[in-house]
Amino acid sequence: MMTVSEQINALLPQTQCGQCSYKGCRPYAEAIAEGNADINQCPPGGDDGIHALAAFLDVPFKPLNPAFGVHKPRQVAFIIEQDCIGCVKCLAACPVDAIIGAAKFMHTVIADECTGCELCIAPCPVDCIVMEAADELDVLAKREKADFAKRRFEARELRKLQEAAEKAERARLKKAALLQKQSV
Ligand code: SF4
Ligand code: SF4
Ligand code: SF4
Repeated sequence: MMTVSEQINALLPQTQCGQCSYKGCRPYAEAIAEGNADINQCPPGGDDGIHALAAFLDVPFKPLNPAFGVHKPRQVAFIIEQDCIGCVKCLAACPVDAIIGAAKFMHTVIADECTGCELCIAPCPVDCIVMEAADELDVLAKREKADFAKRRFEARELRKLQEAAEKAERARLKKAALLQKQSV
Protein backbone atom coordinates (compact mmCIF):
# COMPACT_ATOMS: atom_id res chain seq x y z
CA MET A 1 0.00 0.00 0.00
CA MET A 2 1.28 3.44 -0.94
CA THR A 3 2.15 5.90 1.82
CA VAL A 4 0.55 9.37 1.84
CA SER A 5 3.75 10.93 0.50
CA GLU A 6 3.90 8.35 -2.31
CA GLN A 7 0.30 9.16 -3.22
CA ILE A 8 1.12 12.88 -3.22
CA ASN A 9 4.23 12.21 -5.32
CA ALA A 10 2.06 10.35 -7.84
CA LEU A 11 0.09 13.59 -8.35
CA LEU A 12 3.21 15.69 -9.06
CA PRO A 13 4.46 16.22 -12.63
CA GLN A 14 7.93 14.67 -12.04
CA THR A 15 9.69 17.50 -13.86
CA GLN A 16 12.29 17.32 -11.04
CA CYS A 17 13.10 21.02 -11.49
CA GLY A 18 13.44 22.03 -7.84
CA GLN A 19 11.34 25.19 -8.24
CA CYS A 20 9.24 24.14 -5.24
CA SER A 21 12.49 24.66 -3.22
CA TYR A 22 12.94 20.90 -2.72
CA LYS A 23 15.44 18.69 -4.58
CA GLY A 24 12.83 16.92 -6.65
CA CYS A 25 9.18 15.94 -6.57
CA ARG A 26 9.53 13.20 -3.95
CA PRO A 27 11.12 15.47 -1.30
CA TYR A 28 8.37 18.04 -1.94
CA ALA A 29 5.72 15.33 -1.58
CA GLU A 30 7.29 14.26 1.72
CA ALA A 31 7.30 17.89 2.96
CA ILE A 32 3.60 18.28 2.08
CA ALA A 33 2.77 14.99 3.83
CA GLU A 34 4.63 16.17 6.93
CA GLY A 35 2.83 19.53 6.88
CA ASN A 36 6.04 21.44 6.13
CA ALA A 37 5.16 22.71 2.63
CA ASP A 38 2.09 24.23 1.04
CA ILE A 39 0.24 22.68 -1.92
CA ASN A 40 0.84 25.63 -4.27
CA GLN A 41 4.61 25.54 -4.78
CA CYS A 42 4.91 23.56 -8.04
CA PRO A 43 4.93 25.73 -11.20
CA PRO A 44 5.05 22.81 -13.70
CA GLY A 45 1.98 21.25 -12.09
CA GLY A 46 0.13 24.59 -12.27
CA ASP A 47 -3.48 25.00 -11.21
CA ASP A 48 -4.45 21.49 -12.37
CA GLY A 49 -1.82 20.01 -10.06
CA ILE A 50 -2.92 22.17 -7.13
CA HIS A 51 -6.55 21.15 -7.69
CA ALA A 52 -5.48 17.47 -7.61
CA LEU A 53 -3.51 17.96 -4.39
CA ALA A 54 -6.35 19.96 -2.77
CA ALA A 55 -8.87 17.23 -3.63
CA PHE A 56 -6.59 14.44 -2.36
CA LEU A 57 -5.81 16.23 0.92
CA ASP A 58 -9.36 17.61 1.26
CA VAL A 59 -8.16 21.19 1.66
CA PRO A 60 -9.21 24.34 -0.23
CA PHE A 61 -7.57 25.19 -3.58
CA LYS A 62 -5.18 28.14 -3.57
CA PRO A 63 -3.49 29.65 -6.63
CA LEU A 64 0.15 28.96 -7.47
CA ASN A 65 2.44 31.00 -5.24
CA PRO A 66 4.37 33.23 -7.72
CA ALA A 67 7.38 33.23 -5.39
CA PHE A 68 8.10 29.74 -6.76
CA GLY A 69 7.74 30.62 -10.45
CA VAL A 70 5.14 30.69 -13.18
CA HIS A 71 3.42 27.88 -15.06
CA LYS A 72 4.80 27.59 -18.63
CA PRO A 73 3.86 25.54 -21.68
CA ARG A 74 5.82 22.29 -22.04
CA GLN A 75 9.41 22.70 -23.25
CA VAL A 76 12.38 20.47 -24.10
CA ALA A 77 16.07 21.27 -24.07
CA PHE A 78 18.05 21.35 -27.30
CA ILE A 79 21.87 21.42 -27.52
CA ILE A 80 23.45 23.44 -30.33
CA GLU A 81 25.93 20.66 -30.98
CA GLN A 82 28.46 22.64 -33.06
CA ASP A 83 29.02 24.93 -30.05
CA CYS A 84 29.28 22.15 -27.43
CA ILE A 85 32.79 21.71 -25.96
CA GLY A 86 32.00 18.39 -24.29
CA CYS A 87 32.58 19.61 -20.73
CA VAL A 88 29.90 17.20 -19.33
CA LYS A 89 28.55 19.82 -16.88
CA CYS A 90 25.02 19.42 -18.25
CA LEU A 91 25.24 15.66 -17.81
CA ALA A 92 25.81 16.02 -14.08
CA ALA A 93 22.94 18.52 -13.78
CA CYS A 94 20.23 16.50 -15.53
CA PRO A 95 18.00 14.85 -12.90
CA VAL A 96 16.68 12.19 -15.27
CA ASP A 97 19.81 11.33 -17.31
CA ALA A 98 18.28 12.69 -20.52
CA ILE A 99 21.60 13.91 -21.95
CA ILE A 100 24.06 11.64 -23.70
CA GLY A 101 27.69 12.35 -24.50
CA ALA A 102 31.18 11.85 -23.12
CA ALA A 103 34.03 14.13 -22.05
CA LYS A 104 35.37 16.15 -25.02
CA PHE A 105 32.55 14.97 -27.30
CA MET A 106 29.45 16.87 -28.25
CA HIS A 107 26.35 16.16 -26.21
CA THR A 108 22.75 15.70 -27.19
CA VAL A 109 19.38 15.64 -25.42
CA ILE A 110 17.04 12.66 -25.72
CA ALA A 111 13.94 14.77 -26.33
CA ASP A 112 11.48 12.05 -25.23
CA GLU A 113 13.20 11.79 -21.86
CA CYS A 114 13.69 15.52 -21.19
CA THR A 115 11.27 16.88 -18.58
CA GLY A 116 12.00 20.52 -19.48
CA CYS A 117 13.36 21.24 -15.99
CA GLU A 118 15.97 23.74 -17.34
CA LEU A 119 18.59 22.58 -14.80
CA CYS A 120 21.15 22.02 -17.59
CA ILE A 121 20.98 25.63 -18.84
CA ALA A 122 22.92 27.48 -16.13
CA PRO A 123 25.90 25.06 -15.85
CA CYS A 124 26.69 25.21 -19.59
CA PRO A 125 29.77 27.45 -19.92
CA VAL A 126 29.15 28.25 -23.59
CA ASP A 127 25.38 28.81 -23.45
CA CYS A 128 24.72 26.22 -26.13
CA ILE A 129 21.56 24.76 -24.55
CA VAL A 130 18.25 26.35 -25.47
CA MET A 131 14.70 25.51 -24.49
CA GLU A 132 12.25 24.87 -27.31
CA ALA A 133 8.48 24.59 -27.27
CA ALA A 134 7.26 20.99 -27.11
CA ASP A 135 3.94 19.55 -28.21
CA GLU A 136 1.34 19.58 -25.45
CA LEU A 137 0.43 16.08 -24.25
CA ASP A 138 -2.97 14.65 -23.44
CA VAL A 139 -3.65 13.57 -19.84
CA LEU A 140 -2.66 9.92 -20.40
CA ALA A 141 0.57 10.77 -22.25
CA LYS A 142 1.40 13.31 -19.53
CA ARG A 143 0.95 10.63 -16.84
CA GLU A 144 3.05 8.10 -18.78
CA LYS A 145 5.82 10.66 -19.22
CA ALA A 146 5.68 11.60 -15.52
CA ASP A 147 5.88 7.90 -14.51
CA PHE A 148 8.88 7.42 -16.80
CA ALA A 149 10.63 10.53 -15.40
CA LYS A 150 9.92 9.30 -11.85
CA ARG A 151 11.61 5.96 -12.62
CA ARG A 152 14.59 7.74 -14.24
CA PHE A 153 14.93 10.09 -11.25
CA GLU A 154 14.76 7.22 -8.76
CA ALA A 155 17.28 5.13 -10.73
CA ARG A 156 19.65 8.11 -10.79
CA GLU A 157 19.24 8.70 -7.04
CA LEU A 158 19.98 5.02 -6.39
CA ARG A 159 23.04 5.15 -8.64
CA LYS A 160 24.31 8.24 -6.79
CA LEU A 161 23.85 6.45 -3.44
CA GLN A 162 25.71 3.37 -4.74
CA GLU A 163 28.54 5.55 -6.09
CA ALA A 164 28.82 7.33 -2.73
CA ALA A 165 28.89 3.97 -0.88
CA GLU A 166 31.57 2.61 -3.26
CA LYS A 167 33.65 5.77 -2.80
CA ALA A 168 33.36 5.48 1.00
CA GLU A 169 34.37 1.81 0.82
CA ARG A 170 37.41 2.61 -1.36
CA ALA A 171 38.45 5.34 1.12
CA ARG A 172 38.00 2.90 4.02
CA LEU A 173 40.13 0.22 2.32
CA LYS A 174 42.83 2.78 1.44
CA LYS A 175 42.93 4.02 5.03
CA ALA A 176 43.09 0.45 6.38
CA ALA A 177 45.94 -0.37 3.98
CA LEU A 178 47.84 2.77 5.04
CA LEU A 179 47.38 1.97 8.73
CA GLN A 180 48.59 -1.58 8.14
CA LYS A 181 51.63 -0.29 6.26
CA GLN A 182 52.48 2.11 9.11
CA SER A 183 52.19 -0.66 11.70
CA VAL A 184 54.79 -2.94 10.02
S1 SF4 B 1 7.98 19.45 -10.79
FE1 SF4 B 1 9.55 20.78 -9.91
S2 SF4 B 1 8.41 22.22 -8.63
FE2 SF4 B 1 7.03 20.53 -9.09
S3 SF4 B 1 7.25 19.16 -7.33
FE3 SF4 B 1 8.65 18.45 -8.91
S4 SF4 B 1 10.61 19.42 -8.41
FE4 SF4 B 1 9.02 20.55 -7.30
S1 SF4 C 1 18.00 17.77 -20.63
FE1 SF4 C 1 18.06 19.67 -19.40
S2 SF4 C 1 15.95 20.36 -19.37
FE2 SF4 C 1 15.91 18.24 -20.07
S3 SF4 C 1 15.58 17.04 -18.20
FE3 SF4 C 1 17.78 17.16 -18.49
S4 SF4 C 1 18.43 18.94 -17.31
FE4 SF4 C 1 16.21 19.07 -17.55
S1 SF4 D 1 27.37 21.90 -20.56
FE1 SF4 D 1 27.20 22.78 -22.62
S2 SF4 D 1 29.27 22.63 -23.47
FE2 SF4 D 1 29.22 21.32 -21.67
S3 SF4 D 1 28.74 19.28 -22.53
FE3 SF4 D 1 26.79 20.23 -21.93
S4 SF4 D 1 26.05 21.24 -23.78
FE4 SF4 D 1 28.20 20.78 -24.12
